[in-house]
Amino acid sequence: MTNVVDLRSDTVTKPTPGMRSAIANAEVGDDVMGDDPTIQRLESLTAEVLGKEAAIFMPSGSMTNQIAVRIHCKPGDEFICEAGCHIYNYEQGAFAQLSGVVARTIEGDNGVLRPEQLHGTIRAENEHLVRTRLVCLENTHNRGGGRVQPYENVAGICEWAHEGGLRTHLDGARLFNAVAATGIAADEWSRHFDTVSVCFSKGLGAPVGSALAGPAEMIKEARRHRKCFGGGMRQVGIIGAGALYAMENHRERLKEDHANAQILADAVRATDGIRLLTPEVDTNIVFIEVEPSLGTAADLVTLMQQQGVLTLAITPTRVRAVTHLDVDEQALRRAAEVVAWAAEQLIAGAKPEVDRVVAY
Ligand SMILES: *Cc1c(COP(=O)(O)O)cnc(C)c1O
Repeated sequence: MTNVVDLRSDTVTKPTPGMRSAIANAEVGDDVMGDDPTIQRLESLTAEVLGKEAAIFMPSGSMTNQIAVRIHCKPGDEFICEAGCHIYNYEQGAFAQLSGVVARTIEGDNGVLRPEQLHGTIRAENEHLVRTRLVCLENTHNRGGGRVQPYENVAGICEWAHEGGLRTHLDGARLFNAVAATGIAADEWSRHFDTVSVCFSKGLGAPVGSALAGPAEMIKEARRHRKCFGGGMRQVGIIGAGALYAMENHRERLKEDHANAQILADAVRATDGIRLLTPEVDTNIVFIEVEPSLGTAADLVTLMQQQGVLTLAITPTRVRAVTHLDVDEQALRRAAEVVAWAAEQLIAGAKPEVDRVVAY
């Protein structure tokens, strides 16, 4: 299918010719023995960009987050996070399955927490209670619609956490989108956190991989746990080369994805029957709310799919569309026309036959 505009996620990108050539020519070695030069370059560049002593490559963002929880917490500990965050909702509760840790969720405003909401949440030393150890934040916030956390909230929450003796972890799967949207450098964001994870396979467009960055001692500990979780990989420079290429070449261009998301956002604003979840779209994620009296999110997704524009229904009323480096301005102009057409169909009473795969 050539003319399909795939906005389901920024994970759907395919490696560019330049990235494929970097992968084909990658120098490799046994990384479990510490011998892979491509991974060494990737880890030192990632640490440098994030202003941390060290970084470690891992196969997925879920693994970076779960290993972060594991190095910061012991069994019977708890971490505090926003209720819609990825670590809590989309990683199978692995912190409980693998590390014996519980989560305490606090409802944000589309993913955004204010420091005052956390005040008073650190539990007393008392043998009846779990121990509060860690705060995890997500920036940008996926389920919050790609929202950028206000910088002062991040700083305030982390300052409060550290004063209370807690550790802090940033799920920065899309941190570089927050950088592109605000002009605030990655190391400025990450200096508030003990550990930071970033994904190379989201907007950066690499086929595989994430990294966890932090103080050398913590990353050494993370390396131990990565082996335990089955994430020690041998000539992994083959995939690390794609991530390194993405770090060197694709961070700046995330601004194009944000500009393209505005094309779709403008179309949604101008169309009856649908609306944006938040007045502004901050980055590359557009959340479209369908007027329930007209139909469901899955109905809108199905209609758009008939015209070759792929999105995801993530709640009964909400559709997610994500821009990335495999969809250009022209593709988004097409998506903008198709979303307006699909909303008109719903207003006219269309009841499409919904395929299970388009529904949440
Ligand atoms: C995608 C994502 C991750 C990691 O997902 P993996 O599929 O495990 O790589 C983590 N956090 C957020 C916010 C994400 O969007």
